[in-house]
Amino acid sequence: MSSNGDPGDAEPDEGGSSGGHVGPIVFSDPDARRRLEQSGEVVTFRTSQRTTGETWWRKSRTGEKMGDCRVELIGPVDSSDRSAIRDYHRDAGFRSAREWEEAIEEFHGELPEGYLYRVTSDEIWAECESCHTYSPEVATVGRGPNVTNLCPDCRRLPGGSQSGEGGDHAE
Ligand SMILES: [Zn+2]
Repeated sequence: MSSNGDPGDAEPDEGGSSGGHVGPIVFSDPDARRRLEQSGEVVTFRTSQRTTGETWWRKSRTGEKMGDCRVELIGPVDSSDRSAIRDYHRDAGFRSAREWEEAIEEFHGELPEGYLYRVTSDEIWAECESCHTYSPEVATVGRGPNVTNLCPDCRRLPGGSQSGEGGDHAE
């Protein structure tokens, strides 16, 4: 079961106020990260209002940059009106609104008021079929029935379907 209750609350985002600067957004929840990486879009619940616009994301408040993204406010969620939870549960990666509410409750001990944000990225991550790392650099190579998804390192290795790239690689 997903734990994507509210990754932002344990790891508060920077730039909660003030104009101009858009603080990076933190995704400490692996399910939310995977959704953003693989589909380029995820809806996330945050208990406090934050800045919106072009920014970047990371795994923790002190973590390194993982990728560029855009943050857009969908709207508030309050105890009397949970329609936003119903409308967006699929975009958050949950099969039902109830499942999402339970994940948030599990995280906070209650269903607090907050805001929904849509986070989108142009970088789609995929798994390298050779070394199994996830990266936005993984690309499809080969043709016909022999297509494979490979990261840049594996594309340079012999047997990595593509050659002639001046094979100077580590290991
Ligand atoms: Zn690889």
